[in-house]
Amino acid sequence: MEKLDRFIKLGTAGEGTYGVVYKAKNKLTGKHVALKRIKLEKFYNKGDSEGVPSTAIREICLLKNLKHSSIVELLDVMYSTDKLYLVFEFLDLDLKKYMDFSKGPLNKELIRSYMKQLVDGMAYLHTRTILHRDLKPQNLLIDKEGHIKLADFGLSRSFSLPTRTYTHEVVTMWYRAPELLLGTKIYCTGVDIWSLGCILAEMILKKAIFPGDSEIDQIYKIFRIMGTPTEEVWPGVSLFPDFKPTFPKWKAKDFKDVIAFQDPEQEALLKNMLVYNPAQRKTAKELTRCPYLRKAKLTAPNMDAFPADEDGDD
Ligand code: AMP
Repeated sequence: MEKLDRFIKLGTAGEGTYGVVYKAKNKLTGKHVALKRIKLEKFYNKGDSEGVPSTAIREICLLKNLKHSSIVELLDVMYSTDKLYLVFEFLDLDLKKYMDFSKGPLNKELIRSYMKQLVDGMAYLHTRTILHRDLKPQNLLIDKEGHIKLADFGLSRSFSLPTRTYTHEVVTMWYRAPELLLGTKIYCTGVDIWSLGCILAEMILKKAIFPGDSEIDQIYKIFRIMGTPTEEVWPGVSLFPDFKPTFPKWKAKDFKDVIAFQDPEQEALLKNMLVYNPAQRKTAKELTRCPYLRKAKLTAPNMDAFPADEDGDD
């Protein structure tokens, strides 16, 4: 762990599912990094009981080879018996904080540009069979120039998805795909497409589209808008472990009645993502070709409302 001495901690950047994230500076290069500390005993997959879970470390080290402009770069991995430090490139802000602070609706072209970058990054990862499984605005990081990057990709393969964070907060289910909520153990890249669809809806609405406060409330929030799924719209749905024939039967609404779309092509994109049957959800690769995203240009967010960097280091 002596490599850790190369960094000076400047403060806390945030708190995630697996642990605290520090803003730090590399003493040699002067560059800022995000240091994510994960206390291992809580999160590695149970079967792996001897000290450092070697499979997790191996898998995480593989993530260092991922290079894409829409993926937060993992620069280094450091570990001891009980702690893991992941060193990431540092970005100014996460999308949740940006949406919370910014006044009024998000700029139409900013949403388009963000979606384009996220779909591109996701296509890159999905082609390499790397899933996120827990995508949310908190782990989409943005900078002043208009870039947005996916953080935490690949981690859920190494750690089981906890229901509570390391500080015992409930892990949000707002972005979780219906097949996961209905208890499937077999899932695919479609789970991330669903989450990204929820994030698109949230950028337009400026509030979450399915803000459930428990697993069943989460399922019902989805059913109330998209209708209770039937065998016709989603063959096999009734066989999922947590599907109950006694679920209330809601009729599907049109997304137009719930979301004021900024243009018809944006509506078409959402309709290709928030689809019950994962097999019918478009893949990230297919989405890169949609007319809405092909018109995207890098657009800077409005950062005027944000307090300047407080660590006094710049
Ligand atoms: P996460 O564990 O990725 O959900 O991170 C928790 C919070 O820490 C995020 O919501 C961000 O505010 C912050 N954070 C995570 N990674 C970075 C990073 N690379 N650069 C800046 N802030 C980060």
